[in-house]
Amino acid sequence: MNIHEYQGRDVFRQHGLPVPPGKVADSADKAVAIAKELGLPVMVKAQVLTGGRGKAGGVKFCATIEDVEENARNIVGMDIKSHTVRKVLVTPAVDIAEEFYLGMLVDRRSGRVHVMASAEGGVEIEQVAKDNPEAIVHHAIDPRYGLLDHEALGLGLKLYPTDIKKARQLGSALQKIYTAFVAADASLAEINPWIFTTKGEGLAIDAKINLDDNALFRHPNYEELRDRLSEDPSERQAREADLSFVKLQGNVGCLVNGAGLAMATMDLVKYYGGQPANFLDIGGSSNPEKVVNALRIILQDDEVKAILFNIFGGITRCDDVARGIIEATGQLDIKVPIVVRLTGTNEEEARALLAGTDLVPAATMDEAVQKAIELAGNA
Ligand code: GDP
Ligand code: MN
Repeated sequence: MNIHEYQGRDVFRQHGLPVPPGKVADSADKAVAIAKELGLPVMVKAQVLTGGRGKAGGVKFCATIEDVEENARNIVGMDIKSHTVRKVLVTPAVDIAEEFYLGMLVDRRSGRVHVMASAEGGVEIEQVAKDNPEAIVHHAIDPRYGLLDHEALGLGLKLYPTDIKKARQLGSALQKIYTAFVAADASLAEINPWIFTTKGEGLAIDAKINLDDNALFRHPNYEELRDRLSEDPSERQAREADLSFVKLQGNVGCLVNGAGLAMATMDLVKYYGGQPANFLDIGGSSNPEKVVNALRIILQDDEVKAILFNIFGGITRCDDVARGIIEATGQLDIKVPIVVRLTGTNEEEARALLAGTDLVPAATMDEAVQKAIELAGNA
């Protein structure tokens, strides 16, 4: 789950990072009231779950109340990379002398939290990684010890070799980010930019935190951080139906049991020149209700021109799944062709059941994928 900058700022603040104050508003009037309370100048910042807000015109410096009013009016309702801005953060503007990037993420290869930091802050780290990879400092944190003082100072000095005071501030900021990261069960935490003011004061003026969905049960209070309006509606419905679903841009809707098989199915769709419309793992059940929910979610997408079931029957019996599919398709008004590949336990019985329907049977995964792509292309 991704959270907004203002929420990330709260998490960082709770863990001792220096973060300027601020409040969110959903209208120009409210933004003006906050600016009056904080004192000018302020920044008005779009709160959307995507980066690059500055470049898109969603982060504005405001010297006067008129500026606040005008910028807030322009930014609320603005579209940034298909995210509608519903709220702006109003926060005191600071004098920036230097910008740094401080970030951490879970590195699955090393099984550790991996620090990435750079003196080239303010720009997207992906860009720095491409243009100037040696400008990024890396460090894998040993979970037994956390980020030790000497390691933190070492990283700080790599970022700021000429000023031990600022190096210490950077090192200490990294330690606090790590504490926040672990406490929140984050998968990513980023401050871009961390700045030094013209007076040498260090501040976090942006905050990005992704929370690990698999750990959310340990943080019932985080449920209120969820921005339901900003979630993809189909992903929200899937979560509520207990389906693991990710929307993609293609036209072949995929319903698969098992995450690994679902990935392999998407790979094969790509391999044969098609585009999967989604990732979906319906899990190890033949429950028709789950199949109905899954189909309903996939069919909301007008791009979907064919549906591909790829089911491996193990403990789940193929004939049960086939009954589930037949029942589910009977409940819905489906206009796109459905290709079904069932293999494993009781597959003959399953095929016999499907024989009397409009569903297009396929014996192998390759055949099923190719048929689905062909049918999607003809639609
Ligand atoms: P992002 O574009 O979504 O990453 O949004 P940021 O919060 O990082 O803001 C974008 C840029 O706006 C920053 O990199 C800064 O250069 C600038 N900015 C943000 N806050 C301030 C501020 O208080 N003062 C000044 N002078 N610039 C700011
Ligand atoms: Mn930023």
